[in-house]
Amino acid sequence: MHTIIWKLMNIEENVSLKSYNTFGLDAKASIFVQPKDEKDVSKLLQGGLLASERFFILGGGSNIVFVADFAGVVVRMANKGISIVSEDDRRVVVEAQAGEVWSDFAWDMTRRGFYGLENLVEIPGCVGAAPVQNVGAYGVEAKDVIKAVVAYEIATGCKRIFTNTDCKFGYRDSVFKNELKDKYIVFSVMFELHKDRTCTKTDYSAISNGLKERNILSPTPMQVAEVVADIRKQKLPDTKEIGSAGSFFKNPIVGEQKLELLMKDYPTIVHYASGDGKYKLAAAWLIEQCGWKGKSLGRVGVYAKQALVLVNNGGCTGSEVQKLSETIVADVENKFGVRLETEAIIVK
Ligand SMILES: Cc1cc2nc3c(=O)[nH]c(=O)nc-3n(C[C@H](O)[C@H](O)[C@H](O)COP(=O)(O)OP(=O)(O)OC[C@H]3O[C@@H](n4cnc5c(N)ncnc54)[C@H](O)[C@@H]3O)c2cc1C
Repeated sequence: MHTIIWKLMNIEENVSLKSYNTFGLDAKASIFVQPKDEKDVSKLLQGGLLASERFFILGGGSNIVFVADFAGVVVRMANKGISIVSEDDRRVVVEAQAGEVWSDFAWDMTRRGFYGLENLVEIPGCVGAAPVQNVGAYGVEAKDVIKAVVAYEIATGCKRIFTNTDCKFGYRDSVFKNELKDKYIVFSVMFELHKDRTCTKTDYSAISNGLKERNILSPTPMQVAEVVADIRKQKLPDTKEIGSAGSFFKNPIVGEQKLELLMKDYPTIVHYASGDGKYKLAAAWLIEQCGWKGKSLGRVGVYAKQALVLVNNGGCTGSEVQKLSETIVADVENKFGVRLETEAIIVK
């Protein structure tokens, strides 16, 4: 059966993933396949390759650290296309395929007068990962605009449409990262966007300050997108120049008692109420207090402008990234008694 798949699809062997992950890690995939349409996905799933081999579904590789070569199949979704599903005077439902570049899609929608994605421009990666990760920035999350997700079950090849509720979205989280992890390939995503330019969200302080600086009182979504792009440029590395996986660690959540204890020793500790009597600590602040901001361990460093971001100083390997990450986790735990979890996905 496998030989049929190999003949039907463009399957490559021993492929470097360096240009397929934003950290620029030169791991190799023993098998690499890029489905371009529904037929390719069906062939791949019906051929049973993913049932017999270890696999990883890759989007733009912007939240991934390949620690070593991947002995198995890397499936990189390469299906493209954006279409309008329905439209009225106020709203439009747009379907975008998984392989579309997220930021290009968000800018395109904003330019076309379809709003809701303006705060999410410039997030690296592809459309297919947006519901998996529930990407978010500046007060907006993908879950706010996702109407449905079209996905293929890997075990059966059956197509399923997930409603927004089915996706069980949480903070950078969804059903696809939990009970349905590695069970579905997201093929396309439907977004419900609106046409009212006054509905754009500007309450996030960085955005409202950016608009004030530009003397913009009633911003258009396009102006909001431009402010967001400017803020991101100042804070985050351009992955075309500096390899990274964005925020490497999650902001840890602690209870009230733990926060009180920490505040005795560190009265300026950065924290926010996160509901249920819990508090979110700023991981970047904790890392900075351990002296890591702008510092390096060999060829991997902590970005000088944002301590949450680990960067490739040139030619680093995934295991070097992992080593720095573990060192930071240990240092933060020793100093604060708080264990950081990685937001970036470590693929071993
Ligand atoms: C500089 C920088 C800034 C960033 N800023 C933000 C930000 O502001 N907000 C934010 O939320 N994230 C941010 N990120 C993280 C990253 O951009 C997002 O997590 C993004 O959604 C990852 O998309 P991707 O296509 O690169 O997915 P990948 O990194 O390739 O994969 C991520 C996960 O999604 C799964 N996946 C991908 N595609 C599919 C598919 N078609 N079907 C099933 N599973 C799939 C993968 O298996 C993996 O588990 C940033 C990253 C960088 C490098």
